Amino acid sequence: MTGKPRAFSGIQPTGGIHIGNYLGAIRNWVLQQDQYDNMFCIVDLHAMTLPYDASELRPRTVEVASALLAAGIDPQRSILFVQSDVREHTELCWILGTLATYGELRRMTQFKEKSKGSERVGAGVFFYPVLQAADILLYDAAVVPVGEDQKQHIELTRDLAMRFNRTFGETFVVPEPDIKPAGARIMSLTDPLKKMSKSDPDPESRIELRDPPDVIRRKIRRAVTDSEAEVRFDEERKPAISNLLTIYSLFADVPIPELERRYAGKGYSEFKRDLAEVVIAGLQPIQQRLDELAADPGIVIRTLRGGAARARELAVAKMAVVRDRCGLGLPPLD
Ligand code: ATP
Ligand code: MG
Repeated sequence: MTGKPRAFSGIQPTGGIHIGNYLGAIRNWVLQQDQYDNMFCIVDLHAMTLPYDASELRPRTVEVASALLAAGIDPQRSILFVQSDVREHTELCWILGTLATYGELRRMTQFKEKSKGSERVGAGVFFYPVLQAADILLYDAAVVPVGEDQKQHIELTRDLAMRFNRTFGETFVVPEPDIKPAGARIMSLTDPLKKMSKSDPDPESRIELRDPPDVIRRKIRRAVTDSEAEVRFDEERKPAISNLLTIYSLFADVPIPELERRYAGKGYSEFKRDLAEVVIAGLQPIQQRLDELAADPGIVIRTLRGGAARARELAVAKMAVVRDRCGLGLPPLD
């Protein structure tokens, strides 16, 4: 289309977007809009893999799309759409599933974490990375900008692409993950050994893009800290304060060593007070645009419809090739 490499990014409508999603993924997506031919997908089929309330899914889909637009995704330059609007994702998922093995899916860290402690583990959680591979391969994406947690899934996507190409002939681009070192893994505010997640049952564990200033101040004030009061970056021994330093550094655009110097001898509470103001200021323009979009939700829905039409065109063409390579359907009449 543009001659630029294509990038594919997905995000689940599983809850309010948090600063981990923003710093680890969305912010980079916005910055890279001119570098790649971008597709941004709200992956609602993935959001079904854990128990959810059907009446909440559509509002959440619109909310996530609004957050992306408010953060600076430009639908003129990029394709923004909803996964379930393009049926080809599920068709390709099935085909790739015939190539994936039980053993490799069982080894996925996300599967192990998301199924831990549940009596009933849906097969969807198990199949999650195969659907993700389909999302990416369907559009010949060369680059997948993600947070660190998705590295293993992109590795699987690469393996499935290569396996398909070996079995049925050269068909798919083998994609590369693009993981930025800074912000790739923002941790929970209540447990710095766990990543910040939309699906964490404790809302105090994350700061959402929509959180009002008072809520942000409270969450940061109550965030877990490490023993000893020194503001120093040491992920091994001081994971909590190191996480807060990362958040501060990315929002304020100040390198971590400079922050360590500024807060030398000052203790956690002053640091946290300033951090709250930095986060509030960083989110303010996004929140303002979110309010503007909320006043006219038709804009978001029309944008997603237009995006789906453009994505569908690409997906249908690719699936014709895939079906042919796999020998599916009827032979042509001559
Ligand atoms: P869920 O808990 O429902 O899985 P999530 O917070 O993990 O939600 P996703 O929709 O799964 O969010 O992921 C969207 C993008 O955000 C992905 O690129 C993912 O790598 C990135 N991401 C998610 N959590 C973090 C985090 N804590 N730090 C940095 N990036 C993250
Ligand atoms: Mg996730």
